[in-house]
Amino acid sequence: MSLKVYNTLTKRKEDFVPQEPGKVRFYACGPTVYDYFHIGNARPFVVFDVFRRFLMYRGYQVIYAVNITDVDDKIIKKANNEGVSIREVTQRYARAYLEDIYKLRILPPDVNPRATAHIDEMIELIRKLFENGYAYEVDGDVYYDVGRFKDYGKLSGKKIDELQSGARIEVDERKHNPLDFALWKSARPDEPWWESPWGNGRPGWHIECSTMSMKYLGSTLDIHAGGEDLIFPHHENEIAQSEAATGKPFARYWMHNGFLQIRGEKMSKSLGNFLTAREVVKRHKPEAVRLFFLQKHYRSPINYSEEILSETENALMRLKHVLENIERTLEGKKLSEIEEKDLTGPEKQRWESLQKNRLRFIQEMEDDFNTAGAVGQLFEMAKIANRILEEEELSENNQKILKFIHRTFHEFDSFLSLFGAEEETGVETGTFNQLVNILVQIRNDLRAKKEWALADEIRNKLMESGILIEDRKDGTSWKPVKKNKNN
Ligand SMILES: [Zn+2]
Repeated sequence: MSLKVYNTLTKRKEDFVPQEPGKVRFYACGPTVYDYFHIGNARPFVVFDVFRRFLMYRGYQVIYAVNITDVDDKIIKKANNEGVSIREVTQRYARAYLEDIYKLRILPPDVNPRATAHIDEMIELIRKLFENGYAYEVDGDVYYDVGRFKDYGKLSGKKIDELQSGARIEVDERKHNPLDFALWKSARPDEPWWESPWGNGRPGWHIECSTMSMKYLGSTLDIHAGGEDLIFPHHENEIAQSEAATGKPFARYWMHNGFLQIRGEKMSKSLGNFLTAREVVKRHKPEAVRLFFLQKHYRSPINYSEEILSETENALMRLKHVLENIERTLEGKKLSEIEEKDLTGPEKQRWESLQKNRLRFIQEMEDDFNTAGAVGQLFEMAKIANRILEEEELSENNQKILKFIHRTFHEFDSFLSLFGAEEETGVETGTFNQLVNILVQIRNDLRAKKEWALADEIRNKLMESGILIEDRKDGTSWKPVKKNKNN
């Protein structure tokens, strides 16, 4: 089986072949930090997180970069409206972004570059575009000369002439072509600026992504991902800039997720149907938000409503209960692996369908990351588990089957992150540490009073709970250790 990916560039599903065997250079457009991100923006963050981790699960070394746009018109507007500095706005919302992706169980990207930390590299890239004849300057503004790039439109399928005749493009006498876009914008009052060969100013949005992606991943990326609203002009312009500068293909596979709709409309502030991811995870489990996205193919539009999310949450709880029931049933049992030859009757049938479910799960994921089809297999496996759990007699083989289901769920959870860590306490780490410290202190007091039996009991009980106490000359310390769990 090989992985297939739908490539927006070629408009078909293709075998996924990274340029270097075993290694994937993966870039996804990140947030512009001027507000909390809305639940629609959470979709690419969640689905591309799962794809990245699935690639890791399949044995690829993945370098995953997601930028943070911290200089932009929207940010400047927000700062001016609030009467605060741009830095204050970007720091506040960059922090909020990191907190929110953490809550959504998204693994931090390998690189999270901020635009304002890469201005020199952006200037360098613009200089290269001048050198290659793709940039021109007017009164301190620098534009990309779209007419010079013969492949312009290859991602979006738009033709330059059609775009020009299509109205709604601002006519600017200073530009060679109405489609030309800004690489560098000259400084205006109340705006941040940096020095450049073309005078003080700031970079355009598109050059930020070209610069940061190529800096961390090289001239050619394996996957460039983002929401479908970014195909034009953002990604089209990224291609034009990067390929004109390097002469090499910019990205081998372009992946785009579909829109999120609310009551059939696209979510937007102006329609008043704007809902931040932060608000949603206050009302629903973050894992339910993940499942909500994963139950739909990432390229299809998805409808958001409170009812749908509540239903998803119930479905998630059904799966979690199956896992908990299995854990309770098998607690303390030492089970060897299933020997297929010993299986007969319904046990054999169950075992065989579970094998199919597991295989099918992986096949669905390898078919353009069809998480909807994959997750469906988990529900099938849960049905088998429930049937076994309802039986009065639990044969050893059925116990082994339960163990297999449990293990498979957790195996896939290494990239789905739906069920939570097995060791999860539900207590915040800070509180937890404090509680252990209190117990350690009580034990030390007991030892000082030579109440050895009770002191040892505390140590042993903590050990059973996965906390190792170490008495040294300079005091007592503790650390969590892996519990001896029968899984
Ligand atoms: Zn971008």
